[in-house]
Amino acid sequence: MSVDAWQAVLDRIDDAAALAGVDAGVHARLRQPERVLEVSVPVRRDDGSLEVFTGWRVHHSTVRGPGKGGIRFHPTVDAYAVTALAAQMTLKTAVCGIPFGGAKGGVRCDPATLSMGELERLTRRYTSAIAPLLGADLDVPAPDINTDGRVMAWLLDTLQMFHGGVHLPGAVTGKPLSVGGTRAHAGGTSSGVVVCARAAFEALGIDLPGRRVVIQGFGKVGGPLAFLLQSAGLRIVAVSDITGAVINEGGLDVPALADHVNATGGVAGFPLADPIPADDLLAVPCELLVPAALGGVIDAAVAERVQARVIVEAANGPTLPSADAVLDRRGIAIVPDVLANAGGVTASYFEWAQARQGFPWDPGTTADRHHRFMSEAFGEVWAASERLGVSLRRAAYALAIERVATALEARGIFP
Ligand code: NAD
Repeated sequence: MSVDAWQAVLDRIDDAAALAGVDAGVHARLRQPERVLEVSVPVRRDDGSLEVFTGWRVHHSTVRGPGKGGIRFHPTVDAYAVTALAAQMTLKTAVCGIPFGGAKGGVRCDPATLSMGELERLTRRYTSAIAPLLGADLDVPAPDINTDGRVMAWLLDTLQMFHGGVHLPGAVTGKPLSVGGTRAHAGGTSSGVVVCARAAFEALGIDLPGRRVVIQGFGKVGGPLAFLLQSAGLRIVAVSDITGAVINEGGLDVPALADHVNATGGVAGFPLADPIPADDLLAVPCELLVPAALGGVIDAAVAERVQARVIVEAANGPTLPSADAVLDRRGIAIVPDVLANAGGVTASYFEWAQARQGFPWDPGTTADRHHRFMSEAFGEVWAASERLGVSLRRAAYALAIERVATALEARGIFP
């Protein structure tokens, strides 16, 4: 991630602005983040030395609602990367019609080298530095790479100390259950991917039972996804993770695979399947391919080898712009990340709404609402794609830009 990541988002914003026919002034506003806060994060290491990290919190747009976006602890974090991710959040929240804007934050660090105490001190100091930007009506963080419910609990606690101990459950999502989190948060992304996969199959006239699925990544998204797709009657034929890739044309035994991963740390060596080179995974013949690991894994050359009918992007940014043209030419439908993995931010929105109501929804209500938001978003993107005669990705971006532009125009310019 670097300036290139931000340039790639700008290119897509430019394309979508042209497609949606938005006003030049509005377009110019979308090309700049509202605010970028860079902070120094001094942390006392366990050995007594002092290390100074750098962190950021970026609001790309708060025109449709409070900023929404995760906090990432990673060595590749920089101002451009965080700004690119914040802009993608603006588009994601607009695509799925939830009343948030786009934000993102991060600290450049390698959490693997930090003790638990150092991680907590880093989280608390970073939170104190970005606290002026946070709040249920201003900017609501969530977990992202290398952050989790535990980090969100430290963040919430620190923020509350800044407000004299006032409870602020709506100021952060992805919290542990004990401090106002929700059960639905964890599986929200995976179940949104399933809604998109089902809807795409239906729109393309492909029936579900027995269809072959390939999943790259068996983590927080890919793992539950394999269970959900198998329960929906599909056949998971190949899966990979950082340790390797495995295939079983007859269908992988997903519970047994999960047990194996829990016991050994990865899919490699799973006895009820055959190993394949990791590079071949994305070329395994299937009806549904789900990248659920890293960004940038499908380039133009890989796109020539893909043998799927539909790609549903659970990961953020798995397909490079150069691959889009190849996949379009080959007639492979792509449900883009801003739609396909929006089930996570939708679950975050529900956690925020319940925190503000001070009343938890029952699981059936939550599941119904989640399904409704995701299927309506899919239907609107599909319709925009047909209306504009463009790919689902370009249509999703155009729809999102149109929604943000409408809000910008309605509000006008201050002063
Ligand atoms: P995770 O860290 O839990 O899992 C990542 C998985 O990818 C692991 O199984 C890992 O072994 C695998 N992996 C890593 N490098 C790999 C490689 N070179 N080849 C094959 N597999 C590899 O992460 P996650 O939360 O499941 O997120 C996965 C993707 O989904 C990321 O792109 C993330 O940005 C995106 N996403 C996640 C959420 C969410 O709710 N967690 C929401 C939206 C988008």
